[in-house]
Amino acid sequence: MGKHKAIKTFHISTFGCQMNLADSSTLAASLTARGYRRVADAGDADLIVFNTCSVREKAEERVFGRLGEISRFKKNKPHVRVAVVGCMAQRLGEKLIEKAPQVDYVLGTDRVFELPDVVGGNEGVSRVMTAFGHENMDAIEAEKETPYAGFVTISRGCDNYCTYCIVPYVRGKERVHAADHIVGCVRKMADEGVVEVTLLGQNVNSYRDGGVDFPDLLRRVVDKTDIPRLRYMTSHPKDLSPKLIDIMAKECRIMPHVHLPLQSGSDRVLEKMGRGYTIEHYRQIIRELRRRLDYVSITTDLMVGFPTETDDDYEQTLQAVGEIQFDAAFMFRYSVRPGTVAEAYPDDVPERVKIQRLRRLIELQKSIGFERNQREVGRVCYSLVEGTSRRSEDIMRARTEGNKTVLVRADGIETGAVVPLRITAADAFTLHGERVESQ
Ligand code: SF4
Repeated sequence: MGKHKAIKTFHISTFGCQMNLADSSTLAASLTARGYRRVADAGDADLIVFNTCSVREKAEERVFGRLGEISRFKKNKPHVRVAVVGCMAQRLGEKLIEKAPQVDYVLGTDRVFELPDVVGGNEGVSRVMTAFGHENMDAIEAEKETPYAGFVTISRGCDNYCTYCIVPYVRGKERVHAADHIVGCVRKMADEGVVEVTLLGQNVNSYRDGGVDFPDLLRRVVDKTDIPRLRYMTSHPKDLSPKLIDIMAKECRIMPHVHLPLQSGSDRVLEKMGRGYTIEHYRQIIRELRRRLDYVSITTDLMVGFPTETDDDYEQTLQAVGEIQFDAAFMFRYSVRPGTVAEAYPDDVPERVKIQRLRRLIELQKSIGFERNQREVGRVCYSLVEGTSRRSEDIMRARTEGNKTVLVRADGIETGAVVPLRITAADAFTLHGERVESQ
């Protein structure tokens, strides 16, 4: 097989957050528009793309593991091209090729969408591109994920520089898509039959395009498109405004789910993390959300073992979690990311203690999640059917307005439909429901 065999097919593996999923969909659409065919199995692809994440070391290790497999496979198929794009490409640049010479192209976070050009003609000229700056942000067209759901990125990068976080370094300064562009992307998806769109940004609440802030943007999307269900992700407690709560209270097409990372219940630790709010401010937002909205599901991110975290700081996190009663939480133990401010702090909580703290926190949240889910029993949730469950073809998996997974007997229910389901039972992570008539 010759080294110069033409590239006809491609495969994309996506790591990390929903913003990467959104970018992979856009990239796949532009490769397809250039005549390349997407294949489900990397073994059938002439171009293998990894859209990567640098938030945790593990995510990077997994990519290196996959690259190791590919180098063996490339020996038999020398024409295959390998591209690493996104956060890891941005962070490592040339070093990535030094460490993994089987990689042909390294395109950083702002260069991802140049892959079709690079593959199409200029092979070898710019194998590594990591300069920041999109020439025209709004040339990036959002593409639906599935026939019924899509993500629309509203801003890229982040200006917050939380001391533990690598994102501002690998994604650059916050830049926003124009409000009209976002409305256009949502309208196009709605016209194509998409029923649920999630607006994405590292901190959606700091969105501002001229005089349009994030609540104004939601209002525009609701008023100027027919999208039945609208979500957003991620919120930042320092920027979530009463105006946002107000529009959520008024607009039933904005799904009643808020993902609001708390990280720690200790003001001292929050300050050291550079989060820009106190636990009391956070509590106040939760009180307002629950007071103004008839129903709201609140999820969070929590981190244990941040440098200098004492037993007392940790107890304050447990106490906050016990009081606030999250519907669900992503929980992590701190690990240093090179290049961040926190890298200079002593990583002084022993690994053994971090593990113990994380275990206890997970146990606590599991019992709270169970209790919160019991409250759903008897409610009717309009749920978007996303496909069959992992375990059985006879069971469908759907997502409630509050972003909870609900399982229901298939019985003719179709993927992509929004159906009323009465919740009949619940465990800590999943609801179980039955189909009822529309109410
Ligand atoms: S808000 Fe903080 S944690 Fe979130 S992406 Fe920005 S720097 Fe990272």
